[in-house]
Amino acid sequence: MDAMMKTAGFGTLVLAGLSSIVVFGVMGEKRPRKPVTPAAPAARRIVDLGHPLGPDNPPWPGDSNPFETLPNASIEKDGYFTRKFTSLEHFGTHLDAPAHFVKGGWTVDQIPAERLYGPAVVLEARQESAGNADYRLGAEKVAQWEAKYGRIPRGAIVLMRTGWAERWPDVRRYRNMDSAGSMHFPGFSVEAVKLLIERGVAGLGIDTLSVDYGASKDFAVHHLSHGAGLYHVENLADLSAVPEAGASAVVAPINLEGGSGGPARVFALLP
Ligand SMILES: [Zn+2]
Repeated sequence: MDAMMKTAGFGTLVLAGLSSIVVFGVMGEKRPRKPVTPAAPAARRIVDLGHPLGPDNPPWPGDSNPFETLPNASIEKDGYFTRKFTSLEHFGTHLDAPAHFVKGGWTVDQIPAERLYGPAVVLEARQESAGNADYRLGAEKVAQWEAKYGRIPRGAIVLMRTGWAERWPDVRRYRNMDSAGSMHFPGFSVEAVKLLIERGVAGLGIDTLSVDYGASKDFAVHHLSHGAGLYHVENLADLSAVPEAGASAVVAPINLEGGSGGPARVFALLP
């Protein structure tokens, strides 16, 4: 409680400070002035690559009750606001730890932190994905990227940009399921992932439900990449603001002890 009191005290001071620099615009709305000393480097733009975790996120088919929140305390009754939430580990924008498919593989909390920050490599696949929902990104796409920007660096976080985030959170269009129950959305090919493993990348990311394409029945990419110690981030948000080369990525999953995966914040730091 002591810490809370101190925090509240500090917050009051900050608020008091802010109120003295509130200015009134021509329309009469309150706007704080720009601080004299920015808290972060001003030139760097940060793009949030995650969807907010909530009950309307499209779940994997067959997953029932994937997410729930329950009130725990309210300002009115208790003087403070807290909730309890339950979520599947693989729901919303989330991380797959290698343990997801490999017995003895790293769980979420065991992934070394230095693997969660690295150069962001964006592999462009919007046109192919728009023309073919079963598109699998081939090794030639990796070769094309390297011809333009040089060898993919060790520790890179490789993001496949399919444009599928535009369909979020429309579960019908996002899963794109046929009458036989098979989903149709693009993903990585085994050949491309073999090459990326050779390059020593840390993880794969995609703006669909899975790094394996939707119609996959054997999850070949999951087995291969997790077997090589790579993690995945799935259900990424719109990647259109991230350049193909030159940005960095931060993958920040919930640090869940023993987790096969978990909800994640993912950021791109633009050059
Ligand atoms: Zn997953």
